Amino acid sequence: TWGQARETLQTTIGKNNYQTWIEPLTFVSCEGGVAEFGVQTSFQGDWVSRNFGDEILRQFDKLGEPVDRLKFSVQSNRPRMAAATKPSPTPEKFLKKSAQITNAPDETILGAPLDKRFTFDSFVVGKPNELAHAAARRVAEGGPVSFNPLFLYGGVGLGKTHLMHAIAWELQSRSPELRVVYLSAEQFMYRFIQALRDKQMMDFKSLFRSVDVLMVDDVQFIAGKDSTQDEFFHTFNALIDQQKQIIISADRAPGEIDGLEERIRSRLQWGLVVDLHPTDYELRLGILQQKVELYRSQYQELKISDGVLEFLAHRISNNVRVLEGALTRLFALASLVGREITLEMAQESLADILRQSDRKVTMDEIMRKTCDYYNVRMSDLLSPKRSRNIARPRQMAMWLAKQLTQRSYPEIGKRFGNRDHTTVIHAVRKIDELKAQDSQVAEDAEMLRRMLEA
Ligand code: ADP
Ligand code: MG
Repeated sequence: TWGQARETLQTTIGKNNYQTWIEPLTFVSCEGGVAEFGVQTSFQGDWVSRNFGDEILRQFDKLGEPVDRLKFSVQSNRPRMAAATKPSPTPEKFLKKSAQITNAPDETILGAPLDKRFTFDSFVVGKPNELAHAAARRVAEGGPVSFNPLFLYGGVGLGKTHLMHAIAWELQSRSPELRVVYLSAEQFMYRFIQALRDKQMMDFKSLFRSVDVLMVDDVQFIAGKDSTQDEFFHTFNALIDQQKQIIISADRAPGEIDGLEERIRSRLQWGLVVDLHPTDYELRLGILQQKVELYRSQYQELKISDGVLEFLAHRISNNVRVLEGALTRLFALASLVGREITLEMAQESLADILRQSDRKVTMDEIMRKTCDYYNVRMSDLLSPKRSRNIARPRQMAMWLAKQLTQRSYPEIGKRFGNRDHTTVIHAVRKIDELKAQDSQVAEDAEMLRRMLEA
């Protein structure tokens, strides 16, 4: 049957697609409604299933052999990384990760699996993320390596991981022969430590140096981890020297990551550094509408009015993950009650999320409360004065602004009498330092934070 199905697929999906994706499949079996195929990489399986799965099922159907599920298993003969397959005495905190990696299919030994939902198609572009999106697109088009490394940064839930996966999917579909590896900085460290322990450093090095595109997510994680940073730096240099593309993400700009070695920091800044800004109302609404459409294509009965979506976009924080969580909860509710979600229902069922998002502290409040607390004048706070009794409250206010708002360093600097962003960075560090040494400062910070968050 598969032989016949293949024949037809050649014409239904096009010769090119057929040769790239279908021909390399090894047919294993077709039993109990499940057709199983062998693939070289989990990516290949994901891709075929995502793009041609329905078509393959249709062909089986037509041939009178209905199949309701496709299964792809990795049958790689690539050399495995010995360290990852041999469970050896593991420090407690790595145990969980270790189990995960050992169980993973071959392809994920080096990289982590990619999320199927994170593609360019599903990424909604708006003002706050258009630059990051454009840069990601450019890199995903391959060709001459122009932005290297690409450094994406931004707060939690703003789409860094989504964009990185989208790049990986796109690169893989354009050039399946490329070795694209995506992993978190934490996974990088874990593998490094494992290789060290198992005396597999040569394997580790050659493996990571043989990739075509390396993506490391949440690189702030390795800040302060000296030997890991060191190895990362060497891998990084080796790949850049070979003109291999590197893509890095972090929750902050390279210059703002504490504990990151200077040489790494400056190397990261060589390429293109772009940030994802906090979402605005329009982007949030766009994302919600896209998700609703996606759900509707699966659950036609779903009803949610534009009014409710607008309400959510207004009231929910800029973290897209929280926004998605809220929507999912409403969908669950909708399927339970079987009728349209009203504003009242939304308000009621999302009370906890709304409360959290409401607690937005403004710069103005921070400055006023800090002045009150230390008994200094607002004009002094904004003035160039640098005497201790004014500089300290000013630093504290800057620190609070960084902790409690989504403002960037330059934005904070601007509000404080047009100061440079480096002044703000310095202030934040200073307070962090003092908090550790001086209990009075720690108490002030805690008090102020509580007052502002109340
Ligand atoms: P980060 O890695 O920056 O913390 P993620 O990439 O994990 O954030 O994104 C969090 C969630 O929000 C994911 O489910 C992602 O698909 C979604 N998301 C973020 N930005 C967008 C966007 N612009 N369009 C669609 N979905 C988005
Ligand atoms: Mg992420």
